[in-house]
Amino acid sequence: MNLKVAVATGDGIGPEIMEAVLTIFNAAQVPLDYVFVDMGKSVFERGFSTGMTAEARNTIETLGILFKGPMETPKGKGVKSINVTARKVWNTYANKRVFKSLHGVETVFSKAGIPIDLTIVRENIEDTYGGIEHFLTADVALCRRFITRPGSLQVHRYAFDMARKKGARKITCGHKANIMKLTDGLFLECFYEVAKEYPDIEANDVIVDDLAMKLVVRPNDFDVVVLPNLQGDIISDLCAGLVGGLGFAPSANIGDNISIFEAVHGTAPDIAGMDKANPTALLLSGIMMLRHLGLPEYAATIENALLYTLEKGVHTSDFGDPKVPALGTRAFAGEIIRNLGCIPRQSPGRVAVPAVSRYSPPALPTQNRIMETAQKPKAEIAGVDFFIESNEQPQAVAEKFLQLIGEKYDLTTISNRGTQVYPTGSVFTECINQYRVRLESRDHANLIQQDILEVANLVSGEFKICSIEWLMKYNDKKAYSLAQGQ
Ligand code: NAD
Repeated sequence: MNLKVAVATGDGIGPEIMEAVLTIFNAAQVPLDYVFVDMGKSVFERGFSTGMTAEARNTIETLGILFKGPMETPKGKGVKSINVTARKVWNTYANKRVFKSLHGVETVFSKAGIPIDLTIVRENIEDTYGGIEHFLTADVALCRRFITRPGSLQVHRYAFDMARKKGARKITCGHKANIMKLTDGLFLECFYEVAKEYPDIEANDVIVDDLAMKLVVRPNDFDVVVLPNLQGDIISDLCAGLVGGLGFAPSANIGDNISIFEAVHGTAPDIAGMDKANPTALLLSGIMMLRHLGLPEYAATIENALLYTLEKGVHTSDFGDPKVPALGTRAFAGEIIRNLGCIPRQSPGRVAVPAVSRYSPPALPTQNRIMETAQKPKAEIAGVDFFIESNEQPQAVAEKFLQLIGEKYDLTTISNRGTQVYPTGSVFTECINQYRVRLESRDHANLIQQDILEVANLVSGEFKICSIEWLMKYNDKKAYSLAQGQ
């Protein structure tokens, strides 16, 4: 019996490129049945705030695989991106993006004879993509950035496993732990924790800005790169540029139960309905899906036909030799179908297909899984950070706090936009109307939650409290950052 996958054709160029890909799949007799589901712009317009119908959701949760075209989320309507929602709701925690040079797609590297074969694994759930944002004052917007131990361990395990299956020599963690010592620091710590389980793979790390420069100068120094969500998003588009642009960038969103395969590019509204779109990125995503489903022989046949077609100089209007007339989406797919069974001459090794077991759909869980790491550290409350609204001078804010807080606390620092302005600071530090005031327990006495709420009550009589953060110590170690200049 054929495996079933859910298919959402998407918006803009989505239906055209999906039709091209499924026509190629059918010509190659891929043993899949497609269950079409309703998602995207038209579903939002019908009043479904998540951009998908309940039926679509049930189908995807039952089948476990979604093959999707790009989708448009209406702007300014207060709804969240359907693409991000789908990735997060179904916990597709690893976003794998493969960037390989393709013969026939000219780039600065292909001209220099430097082939590229890079895989980026982007954490896909956490980071600023939590989308948890607030205005603290009318002038100050804040985005919460979550990096968690279970989430980081999950994506690093996937990356190391995938690197081993790929036969990768090296895996690199990109991060900004020099600045975000706790969040990216945790991501990096988890990377090296998992690395211990994979002694056969060389593991190293690079600060993300340095990584961006190195990827452009010497892309071949990298093999598999794993990054937090936002940094991974940016770096993977940079890598798309290295191999010829977004038209050649496939992606797989992998979870333990549900996985989503889609191109990296968007709906390309400027060329929608014109039979101009390049279906290569979606086709490459479909090829990743076939491998994931345990159909590597079909993946290899189609990939070979695509590579053979590109080698011959066949192209759509977004790439290729301008002296060779560009084909439309349908005709380009027709050429690939004609070349099914052909072996590319200049891409040796691409036919190799590791054996994978055949996919079976997920069992439906009965409740949400709570992910918690085994360690239970000693936890203590060491103090509190109050984020308050005020346009007074730092010294005036400090004096008011000192009047309020009594004997239990030391006022250790006041900062503005993360820079200390009390007890020491510079008059050159420009301030906005929101301070962070840090109270730490005097003599390291243990605090309880009620202590914090009592002092919060006193502070609220004098200032508008925008936000409160508990200062925690785990196993006697401070679990909060210092202010700049503290
Ligand atoms: P885009 O990727 O749609 O287009 C950027 C440029 O690349 C355009 O000039 C477009 O014509 C071209 N392009 C993209 N794909 C192409 C293809 N297959 N063949 C030929 N040319 C191609 O990016 P955008 O304009 O920023 O976004 C348009 C819409 O897509 C927005 O609504 C955005 O939210 C959505 N989007 C969706 C996804 C997704 O579904 N995963 C991803 C990105 C953007």
